[in-house]
Amino acid sequence: GDSYDEECDYLFKAVLIGDSAVGKSNLLSRFAKDEFRLDSKPTIGVEFAYRNIRVADKLIKAQVWDTAGQERFRAITSSYYRGALGALLVYDITRRATFENVGKWLKELREFGNSDIVVILVGNKSDLVNSRQVGEEEGKKLAEKQGLCFMETSALENKNVEEAFLEMINKIHGITS
Ligand code: GDP
Ligand code: MG
Repeated sequence: GDSYDEECDYLFKAVLIGDSAVGKSNLLSRFAKDEFRLDSKPTIGVEFAYRNIRVADKLIKAQVWDTAGQERFRAITSSYYRGALGALLVYDITRRATFENVGKWLKELREFGNSDIVVILVGNKSDLVNSRQVGEEEGKKLAEKQGLCFMETSALENKNVEEAFLEMINKIHGITS
């Protein structure tokens, strides 16, 4: 179930990070509401969404925070990361620069985030096969080197979105239980 007031055993905070327009907000709306938007609609302030997930015999409430556009100004504050147990670090497979910035995001994450935060590296927009600028193997390699999980997703086609979030939630659950 996904009702807001359902009893839950754990509440997890997770964050979405990565360059502007890589698809963070659409990944979250897919995961939380099964919605996708063709227009990017940046909002002011931090937004978050909840979803309840059953892992083994526990009901977990995942609270996922979205940057709501501050990443454009490199103005994400430490409070955004505070208490987060997981992160989806997203780049756009059709824009190489967003992949090259992964290191910067990791640095920030390691500065402000929990030391044992679970990070999933996500190459989004896998549906745009003809404009691909980053190979899947490159993503995989970087993730291995940095000790992260890796997945390519398409928020548009709803491909691997659920899997990416569930991988993160399962890993967090494995650490905290
Ligand atoms: P954010 O700035 O990282 O939150 O990115 P948004 O979620 O606002 O998405 C930026 C743009 O990319 C929007 O025009 C989306 O419609 C588009 N977009 C997001 N995910 C995908 C995807 O998986 N495939 C395609 N083709 N476009 C996407
Ligand atoms: Mg956004």
